Amino acid sequence: MIEDRIYSGGPVLVVGAHAFDAEVIAGPLAATAAARGAAVTFLHLTMGEQGHTRLAPDAYAAQKKEEASRCAARLGISWLGFDLPDAFLPDTDETALRICDVIRETKPQTVITHWSGSWHKDHRAAGEATRKAVFYAALPTLVRAAPAHTPDLLLFGQNWEDDEGFVPSQLVDVTEGFEAWRAGILEYELARGLASFPYVDYYSALYRTHGCLRGVTYAQAFATTSHSWSAGFGQFMPPMRLRPACGCGGKHG
Ligand SMILES: [Zn+2]
Repeated sequence: MIEDRIYSGGPVLVVGAHAFDAEVIAGPLAATAAARGAAVTFLHLTMGEQGHTRLAPDAYAAQKKEEASRCAARLGISWLGFDLPDAFLPDTDETALRICDVIRETKPQTVITHWSGSWHKDHRAAGEATRKAVFYAALPTLVRAAPAHTPDLLLFGQNWEDDEGFVPSQLVDVTEGFEAWRAGILEYELARGLASFPYVDYYSALYRTHGCLRGVTYAQAFATTSHSWSAGFGQFMPPMRLRPACGCGGKHG
């Protein structure tokens, strides 16, 4: 099961366009993984500082950094920020290489980011830059401060703004982390009525709906990479040992 891979104790990295995105695409999963001993890092590429109706961007960025820290404490995770400009997140090799460096430093087993089918340009940019970053991180000939690292799993989380063509191909049990997520997300003013969208209602119901289908209380949905993409970033790993066709696992010698 996919839970065996995600909750094995290996590090998890979640890359979101704006502070609050990582929390909704993988917050309950992150709290569950952290409770089971994994080092979990959220990377907020921008703080989403343009999203307040009354506060100036600088003031709102400062508020969101405090909210992100309080939320991270509730989830039991750590977070990093690049302070890139909200609404103008650059989908460039420079962004991808900065994410690549975080991947090489944090050595995640699982990387989670945005699905590509989003109306929001920053979300598309974050997802694409992270795909590039996973590729760069695995490239052994690309010399950076830290050596190459290949994550085991790349997943795309569910976000209400990234719904075009999203196929929930994996449902992951996140029951253990749900209450920490709910407490954490409410640290953000965005979840307490700043935005017209009812985030807490929507995501609580969504996780419960997926839980019904998964046979648990709460589950999060993820889209996966294509087989060719997975093989692509796995090509820098040591050769796989092929199993004999008989399925004996090599017991015949
Ligand atoms: Zn966003």
